[in-house]
Amino acid sequence: MVLGVSGSGKSTVGTILAEALKIPFDDGDDFHPIENKEKMASGQPLNDQDRQPWLESMARHLAVQAKNRGGVLACSALKEIYRQTLGQYCHLPIQWVYLSGSRELLEQRLSNRQGHFFKPELLQTQLETMEPPRYAYNVDIAKPPKTIVSEIIENMNMKKSDLGLIGLGVMGKSLTLNLAHHDINVSAYNRSVLGEEHVAKDFASTNKHLTNLQVFDDLSSFVKTLISPRKIMLMVNAGPAVDHVIQDLLPFLEEGDIMIDGGNSHYHDTTRRIDLLNQHSIHFVGCGVSGGEEGALKGPSIMPGGDKEAVDAVLPYLKQIAARDQQGKACCTNIGLQGSGHFVKMVHNGIEYAEMQLIAEAYTVLREGAGLSIDEIAVIFKEWNQGELKSYLLEITADILMVKEGDVHLVELIYDAAQQKGTGGWSTTSALEVGAPFGTISEAVMARCLSALKATRVEASEHYGDYPKNPSENTETMIAELKVAYHAARVVNHAIGFEMIRTTSTEYRWDINLSELARIWTNGCIIRSSLMEQLVQEYSDNPSKHTLLIDSFIHQLKGERITLANTVAYSLQMGIAMPVFSAAINYLHGFTSEQSSAHIIQAQRDYFGSHTYKRKDRSLEDVFHTDWQQIVE
Ligand code: NDP
Repeated sequence: MVLGVSGSGKSTVGTILAEALKIPFDDGDDFHPIENKEKMASGQPLNDQDRQPWLESMARHLAVQAKNRGGVLACSALKEIYRQTLGQYCHLPIQWVYLSGSRELLEQRLSNRQGHFFKPELLQTQLETMEPPRYAYNVDIAKPPKTIVSEIIENMNMKKSDLGLIGLGVMGKSLTLNLAHHDINVSAYNRSVLGEEHVAKDFASTNKHLTNLQVFDDLSSFVKTLISPRKIMLMVNAGPAVDHVIQDLLPFLEEGDIMIDGGNSHYHDTTRRIDLLNQHSIHFVGCGVSGGEEGALKGPSIMPGGDKEAVDAVLPYLKQIAARDQQGKACCTNIGLQGSGHFVKMVHNGIEYAEMQLIAEAYTVLREGAGLSIDEIAVIFKEWNQGELKSYLLEITADILMVKEGDVHLVELIYDAAQQKGTGGWSTTSALEVGAPFGTISEAVMARCLSALKATRVEASEHYGDYPKNPSENTETMIAELKVAYHAARVVNHAIGFEMIRTTSTEYRWDINLSELARIWTNGCIIRSSLMEQLVQEYSDNPSKHTLLIDSFIHQLKGERITLANTVAYSLQMGIAMPVFSAAINYLHGFTSEQSSAHIIQAQRDYFGSHTYKRKDRSLEDVFHTDWQQIVE
């Protein structure tokens, strides 16, 4: 179907196209009843009632053509509803070609026409009525008709993809293969820059067997292969690279196209990009992806957020490639508006930082406090991983501890300065923005910062020497208590992360469903665990209760908190730093204290800065100030 307003060259292009394809050509004008032709010739525009018999007659004709060898029909098909009527009887999808051009060119062509019943004045109405179809192949009528036809044929022969992916790095390659393995037609692109010229070509040559995969290093060709509205996932490094790619892509995109940022972008950047692209009528989805390289290939946990219309359009694809929960449902859900998808991914990573640090601290207690061998610790972690402590991170740590180079465990050879890419730190500053207590996670971030001061730590250890130790007499009890303490600290860490999400969600009115969020984190992601599965049910049963006020957690933590405190105390006495275990018991003590120490803080603030305070014995509406110094003197 060749469509466009009068003067766009539908008949000319349609005729040449039909000749080239060796199929019949029909002009939509020939299907008009005589009354319509007379009305148009008298300069009156047609109304939709006039058009109905005309559209019906063409629709029946198209159905017959489709059953035979096909055909080319030239028709204005201005509105979406007309096009739906045209396609109603066809058993095959219609290929739409939209001839578009400037008003000046159209006017010029119409005024040059002779013996045609259309008057140039009707152009105005047609242009106002035209609803350009996003799904059509769009051609500029300024080009010669033969060139236009060659382009149309080239496009018809081109394989089309459902989804595009930009950035064939670690994650991009795995996600592309995951999409292709799920029978989704995918086009992938990687830039060709000095030193990285072969990324796309190499990827293409190693995956020749995937017939539904196309790979490009030319952005224009890549975009042309995508079905409209185009859905393009960016898997590039967070930060300026995302903005560069957006700017590079924009000239090739059309209204309604959708970009999906699958990297670890900051959620404020995502909200900014959504607003920016809205001005171009292009959607932007901020999509957290967790699972690392293997998860991206086999099924990650996916957290898309943004405009509902855009998220709904990409969800079916994302759900196909996501991990499955225990009930077989996809670990992917619409998180909410704005940058909420990237926000929850950021907090996920914050929880992950603390979970990793807890295992690292437990390892150190077992190694230095209990004097166990690395092999013995691997066995203990494997045993812990059988029950309610089961988690992906504990499982991989047990694996790591078993890897040796000759007689030496590989972990012993790894330089002890932790690196970080930003999400843990971002989650800490984001918690500060909404005033959410974030002890375990911020301490995990700080522990990495402290570890990075390796040279200074070495020097300090020489100056300070060994801490006078007081080893436990009963190693078995100590290990058993550590296990209990580890469970308690994990519950507190998850509570801290999820409550920070609840607070921020309320602040931005995202309405994030914590049970559903926990559900999509039960598989595919790095913090999947038995505890996460428990949280799905707990948040479903108690949607508005603070995590640590849920009955089952009160019951567990009441029994475990003394052991957690004792384990921290014992470890500190052994000279072992326990920042995240300590933060957990500190949070729990603080959270469960009816009387905090903040009255002293308030008095101090009022003393030196006249910041005022409220009183327990008066209305909390009232504020007070005391001239402390004068009274004391
Ligand atoms: P890589 O460094 O492996 O790949 C980055 C990709 O981005 C490369 O294809 C690179 O192209 C491309 N790129 C970088 N800058 C530009 C630019 N200016 N224009 C066009 N392309 C550019 O990163 P990952 O695949 O590991 O990570 C991608 C994103 O996913 C990051 O945001 C990361 O934080 C996130 N993520 C990573 C996880 C992981 O486990 N690795 C897990 C979850 C999320 P070129 O080859 O030409 O340099």
